[in-house]
Amino acid sequence: MSPKSTYALGIDFGGTKLLAAVVDLSNGKVVATAKKKTSASDGPEELMARVFDVGEGALKAAKFKPKELAGVGVGVAGQVDADRGLLLGTPNLSQAIVDLPMAKGLTDHFGLPAALANDVQIAALGEERFGAGTGIADFLCVFVGTGIGGALVRDGALMTGAAGTAGEIGHLVIDAGGRLCGCGGHGHLEAYASRTAITRSLLGDLKRGRPSLLRELVPDLDPKASPQGGTALRSGVLARAVEAGDELVTEAIVEAGRYLGLGLASAINLLNPQRIVLGGGVIEAVDLLFEAAVRTARREALPTPAQGVEIVKAGLGDHSGVVGAAILGGAAAG
Ligand SMILES: [Zn+2]
Repeated sequence: MSPKSTYALGIDFGGTKLLAAVVDLSNGKVVATAKKKTSASDGPEELMARVFDVGEGALKAAKFKPKELAGVGVGVAGQVDADRGLLLGTPNLSQAIVDLPMAKGLTDHFGLPAALANDVQIAALGEERFGAGTGIADFLCVFVGTGIGGALVRDGALMTGAAGTAGEIGHLVIDAGGRLCGCGGHGHLEAYASRTAITRSLLGDLKRGRPSLLRELVPDLDPKASPQGGTALRSGVLARAVEAGDELVTEAIVEAGRYLGLGLASAINLLNPQRIVLGGGVIEAVDLLFEAAVRTARREALPTPAQGVEIVKAGLGDHSGVVGAAILGGAAAG
């Protein structure tokens, strides 16, 4: 290990894909990346093999050897014991993972200091250091993907709450007694505005025979499929349908955006943040979702905090997670 290296390996382990990158921690620049799909049937060994694979892919693409790096960090879509480096569970991904010692596995494999943390908190860390949160003391990060995650930065530090769950905006109640959420609660934002929720709503309409370009864009689309994890409609497909003026997809996106805006309005009222950073694949790809959310948030929040808040897209785009994970990995080196 090179003690003075400013480079680290960051791995973003999301609900549908794994992205790894070698990152220059002096400026946040991504040197090279590698990508892999996740699999819901992974056991602990398959999951670790996948993580090693994607990490090695990024090293190869960047032409780096592990010993040239300061450390490796992982942001995982799941419950994490960051202090002990354990992945406690990944309910949205694989039921087979319980108390997996991921940090130790990474250290043994790469010979580097390693750390892991929650993926959304890690993405917020990336945005705080090098993205849309730079120089902002109080901001809220919201990432729309297979679920909806959030993280709060207060006075420049991550606010984690008593049990580490602060910022879980995806589980704000936006419709009393409404749709069942993946967490078991009802009427939560995630059940209305995540990519999974948008897919579910579209599949329901397709089943009822509504016309849509989706049938051409995704020829093997099965309206009866369960829109979980990797089977949810991809952001690029949704974006193409909206650009082509597809009425059904446009309606679904505007509706999801309105619900997202209601969640943001509640967050603005509660927190009075200086800035809200919106990220995630579907926000990046579909402007209409961003615009609808911002419009509703400004209209429904209290006038004073609504006028003051800036609502922007993530500055690092798809790379918030890997950059944040690399920062974590660099910090693990001490
Ligand atoms: Zn929920």
